[in-house]
Amino acid sequence: MILPGKTIGVLGGGQLGRMFSHAATRLGYRVHIYEPDRASPAGEVSAEHTAAPYTDTERLVEFARACDVITYEFENIPVEPLWKIEKLPAPLRPVWQVLEVCQNRMREKTWLKRNDIPHVPFAEVEAGHDLAAAIRRIGLPCVVKTADFGYDGKGQIKVTDDASTARAVAAFAKQRSVVEKYIDFKCELSVLVARTPSGATKTFPVAENIHTKHILDFSILPARINPAIRAEAEKLAVTIAEKLGLAGLLAVELFLSDRGELLVNELAPRPHNSGHYTMDACVTAQFEQHVRAICDLPLGDTALTAPAVVMVNILGDSWKWSADGKLLGAPNWNALLSESGVHLHLYGKSEPRPGRKMGHFNVIASDAEAALNRARQLKEKLRQ
Ligand code: ADP
Ligand code: MG
Repeated sequence: MILPGKTIGVLGGGQLGRMFSHAATRLGYRVHIYEPDRASPAGEVSAEHTAAPYTDTERLVEFARACDVITYEFENIPVEPLWKIEKLPAPLRPVWQVLEVCQNRMREKTWLKRNDIPHVPFAEVEAGHDLAAAIRRIGLPCVVKTADFGYDGKGQIKVTDDASTARAVAAFAKQRSVVEKYIDFKCELSVLVARTPSGATKTFPVAENIHTKHILDFSILPARINPAIRAEAEKLAVTIAEKLGLAGLLAVELFLSDRGELLVNELAPRPHNSGHYTMDACVTAQFEQHVRAICDLPLGDTALTAPAVVMVNILGDSWKWSADGKLLGAPNWNALLSESGVHLHLYGKSEPRPGRKMGHFNVIASDAEAALNRARQLKEKLRQ
């Protein structure tokens, strides 16, 4: 057990690290961020910050020696340098093997297949190999995705005909990729599961997610699905956590197909954007649960404290921009701050950009529809 007062190291300095740091600090831990960028959302709210590249193994070892346990807040961290800290006393949680599976779509899909977890049909294509043949094998429509380093829909092309096949073949000529069947889903869901090194597990309520332009827009709680699907999604998440030997928090993104099947889309071994609702609407927030899980403390109660909540992402798009892309002004924060049952979270990023995640807000209401309606209205008001 790693008790309050000890130091938690975090690889990555983004908003997830920032909110993790707030939760850990509240429980009396010290947080040490390892993040190449000197100015980072997490670095500025934490006790210590090592600003060095992830590949600088000397600095990484020095960092690891100063910590009692280490975790990560994003997936695109190279795994090899982590081998250097494997034998040091501070454990990395989740272990690098989990990161390795989840950071690469090809490995992730292969892992799902090998472990009999329902997933989207796919084909793997090495760089320079016959992508067009793989597209024919999977059938149209399909989605071609880069195997490495994709996020928020970056590195994806939907293929529906010959022209888009040709576009994908040209775009992915030099990188390995995965071709997935396009799923006509009823909805997208996600489940967060925490597991301690001692093997205790707990899931958070299933979220229903609406993406716009491949970026999460709204998470709706409770998800508007039947209880059997909810139970199945939670069970899948626990099975995955156990099979991965997870110590920490993991998000499982799922599609509910039009035939009513649950298919796993992605895994993220860290707090997740779709879990931000927990900050204002669960007994324990996801960030605190992550602290508890990696420190082997008792896991917190995950029950909803409100009948319904909707989380809304605030992207740079909500700032005021001129037609030629000049920044004109900030969003109308008062529209949110003057409302009751609305909770604003901003990440302290200095520069807004369209598509960049700048913050989020949670809207509490008496049911999911009411929360979603209010959330949509408030999102519009932000831009006025
Ligand atoms: P990332 O979140 O890493 O960018 P995802 O694979 O989760 O990548 O894709 C982002 C979004 O694109 C998904 O949440 C979903 O809305 C849509 N999408 C991705 N793959 C498919 C698919 N095979 N069928 C239908 N929609 C998809
Ligand atoms: Mg995703």
